[in-house]
Amino acid sequence: MRVLVVEDEPDLLAGVVRALRTQGYSVDSAADGEEGLFKAESVDYDAVLLDVMLPVRDGWSVLEALRRKKKTPVLMLTARDRPVDKVRGLDSGADDYLVKPFDLGELLARVRALIRRGAQEPSPEITLGDVRIEQAARRVTRLGAPVTLTAKEYTILEYLALNRGRLVTRSALYEHVFDENDDSFSNLIDVHISNLRKKLGHGLIATRRGLGYCIE
Ligand code: CA
Repeated sequence: MRVLVVEDEPDLLAGVVRALRTQGYSVDSAADGEEGLFKAESVDYDAVLLDVMLPVRDGWSVLEALRRKKKTPVLMLTARDRPVDKVRGLDSGADDYLVKPFDLGELLARVRALIRRGAQEPSPEITLGDVRIEQAARRVTRLGAPVTLTAKEYTILEYLALNRGRLVTRSALYEHVFDENDDSFSNLIDVHISNLRKKLGHGLIATRRGLGYCIE
């Protein structure tokens, strides 16, 4: 899952990015509203965390412009706990908001919920035959036994699982699984898929030759 964080406070930005990476998300960042809008329009993010008070262009204006083009789930980060801001945020098309200072654990829980809603996945646990994915714990079991996956393997599996029944193109996988900081050596989707098949059985992920992958 790939997330964009738009925040101008360097320490807060670094802390949020680190927390998200620890949870296995691919994370891009932007330090002002214009850069944030540009990235949010260019990449198909699974969620955007958007600060309200930003240089160049504020969060409201970014949200308004983004909503004309995309339905990307947006979590607004606001320093002001005033009812008018909450109403404005939700009216402007924000999916959720969090008041600063916030607890990182709560932020991560909100991001997970946001991504589930975006994927129209009501349950935090997904069962695919004998494979079970617990999203909050990022735990995968097969026939009840824990399976150890690398961060990228987990992210690819989760993305395919959230889109099960649909063809996921290779380019969509790249876009959602890797971020602007990933080097090309980690971009070996075929290798990750092959490892997933070894660990979870060869029938789970189907290859649509020349198109992409699919979990039925
Ligand atoms: Ca700010």
